Amino acid sequence: MGGGAGMGGFGDAFSDIFGDIFGGGRAGGGRSNVYRGADLRYNLEISLEDAARGSETRIRIPTMEECEPCKGTGAKKGTEPKTCPTCGGHGQVRMQQGFFSIQQTCPKCHGTGRFIADPCTSCQGAGRVKQHKTLSVKIPSGIDEGDRIRLSGEGEHGVNGGPPGDLYVQIHLKPHAVFQRDHDDLHCEMPVSFASAALGGEIEIPTLEGVARLKIPAETQTGKVFRLRGKGIKGVRSIGHGDLLCHVVVETPVHLTERQKELLREFEAINDEDAGKHNPRAKSWMDKVKDFFAG
Ligand SMILES: [Zn+2]
Ligand SMILES: [Zn+2]
Repeated sequence: MGGGAGMGGFGDAFSDIFGDIFGGGRAGGGRSNVYRGADLRYNLEISLEDAARGSETRIRIPTMEECEPCKGTGAKKGTEPKTCPTCGGHGQVRMQQGFFSIQQTCPKCHGTGRFIADPCTSCQGAGRVKQHKTLSVKIPSGIDEGDRIRLSGEGEHGVNGGPPGDLYVQIHLKPHAVFQRDHDDLHCEMPVSFASAALGGEIEIPTLEGVARLKIPAETQTGKVFRLRGKGIKGVRSIGHGDLLCHVVVETPVHLTERQKELLREFEAINDEDAGKHNPRAKSWMDKVKDFFAG
């Protein structure tokens, strides 16, 4: 599981820009410095099975909570923040520069208008402390890579009574041992023995709901794709299930015994008597090669 990361931070940017431009309208600190909290993002890695069926999981995210001992004021228990002596509580100070009178954020209180003589020992005067909170996240069935689940109001706290931001849980799918997902469809590789591919047969294939049986016809070639309708995933916004596509790979046998080699040599000898019939692709390829050298 990944961690949370800040996305927003617009609150502070606006504070700097508008604070300096419109600072004059803030006398008394009335509507000043009220901002919505920043949105947060949390990267959540889930299995393909959990994404297909839906699930519920718990995530632990870092959060800044109101400091308990000082009730968020930042002042030591029993004391209260005082009006800033430098700006008189306005959060802004006027500076004379040549002909111009410039408003600036008060350097002593950083625009809060308050001055804490005796800071709270739990939060060092910040009024907030870093904590962790555990949230329950409901993952809807069919969710896909990159989808986001919004947890309203679970982002960063607002500033000075502003509303909190939202938390976006971003979904990432873990690689699966058997299946690759493509929207609602699933793909898998299906190795078939040389003999089964030639003679045809029934093969067991895995699906998300368990084992299914698939009849493969005689003379099945590598690259052939069998589509099992409805054995894929039903996407969050889909009406029905996608399909499972099985890609055949004919496997050349390995670690052959002497007896197997003997049989294959015998097989090859009979095969060669009419190679064009039994291996048409190899035959036509050889013909092309011959034509190429003949020029
Ligand atoms: Zn405190
Ligand atoms: Zn001040």
